[in-house]
Amino acid sequence: MIIVMKPNAAEASINAVVSFVQEKGLQTHLSKGDEVTIIGVIGNKSKLGDEALLRFPEVAKLVPVTESYKLANKQFHPDPSTVKVGNTEIGPNNLTIMAGPCAVETNDQLMVIAKAVKEAGATILRGGAYKPRTSPYSFQGLEEDGLKYMQEAGQATGLATICEVVSLDAINAAVKYVDMIQIGARNMQNFYLLKEAGKSGLPVLLKRGLCATIDEWLNAAEYIIAEGNPNVVLCERGIRTYETATRNTLDLSAVPVLREKTHLPIIVDPSHSTGNYLYVPPMAKAAVACNADGLMIEVHNDPAHALSDGPQSLTFDNFSKLTKELRPFTQIVGRKF
Ligand code: PEP
Ligand code: MN
Repeated sequence: MIIVMKPNAAEASINAVVSFVQEKGLQTHLSKGDEVTIIGVIGNKSKLGDEALLRFPEVAKLVPVTESYKLANKQFHPDPSTVKVGNTEIGPNNLTIMAGPCAVETNDQLMVIAKAVKEAGATILRGGAYKPRTSPYSFQGLEEDGLKYMQEAGQATGLATICEVVSLDAINAAVKYVDMIQIGARNMQNFYLLKEAGKSGLPVLLKRGLCATIDEWLNAAEYIIAEGNPNVVLCERGIRTYETATRNTLDLSAVPVLREKTHLPIIVDPSHSTGNYLYVPPMAKAAVACNADGLMIEVHNDPAHALSDGPQSLTFDNFSKLTKELRPFTQIVGRKF
């Protein structure tokens, strides 16, 4: 439930309502707008009498929230959230591009790619050090060495860094080296990992599960936020459908749907959704046009010899051509880039 206070309600009145709710054993989440403050109530609201609350003179109204996710819910937090990642941010004012190889392969490879993506306008370097591959015989990642190379490339270029984590060990290593952690599609409903990501203190990019509905995805985000970590960014990366022409089906309608349901920033991954470098630029432009807050794009110095996801990786030339072509789209939606 949400308690909406009257415009310009006095601090003392807000505090009185908060104390009343907390004394009943429920948690509160305060969201202060320019004029109106709303108080989110988390827990079993049957312990609260609606009438008792309405007796507080500066309570305007009570709004029930039917969704099971509360902290991720836009009703609790009407203004869009901005998530800081290293020296950059993801939110409503700019377009943030995360780019880099699918997997960190060598220190030199990563450094070359980091410089190229920075030059073309990316502000976050992506690179997998723990690779959840479909086959156990495929390249599994450099693990902690890969994280170290990410840190070095980040420091050399000024880019913020993001790495996927697949276990508690990986989280404990990642916090030493990178600015943001990623929970991949295959782990979106690994609730133990979500809780540990919430405790890590780092911002978390939560990819949509291969077969997850939007509500399941938002409940997964709730697991992270409920651990006291509000810095969650959602990433649409395509879902399984009957279509085989693309690797997955990019559900771009998730962007406007999520805008109605959540305050969390939303980015789109046209690489893993299409699986083909030819389809990445048009879907990247479409994602910006539908007002995504950012993009995640795989870029490789030599896609033909990449250890993973070469077919969907952009060359440096294709990536810099794309970022130039994105500019008119960012202007239309009023984002800095
Ligand atoms: C990735 O970003 O490296 C990745 C494996 O993506 P996804 O979890 O979306 O498949
Ligand atoms: Mn990949």
